[in-house]
Amino acid sequence: MNKNIRCGVCQKSFTTISQIQSHQQKLNHDKVYICTHCSKQFTNTNDFKVHLQQHASKKKNDLTAME
Ligand SMILES: [Zn+2]
Ligand SMILES: [Zn+2]
Repeated sequence: MNKNIRCGVCQKSFTTISQIQSHQQKLNHDKVYICTHCSKQFTNTNDFKVHLQQHASKKKNDLTAME
């Protein structure tokens, strides 16, 4: 299953997060944050943090459900 991850800055597409990250580093797209869980991209640090917290709280809920 090939995921197409598009660079949110220049719309180039990549298949892995590490590819897009090295692309963004090369071109200094330094304000793009990529979620390693679902490859969603954010240009705002706060949005990205909130999104990561959602992943974290989902994990917590899964753990509590297993107990
Ligand atoms: Zn780009
Ligand atoms: Zn995510």
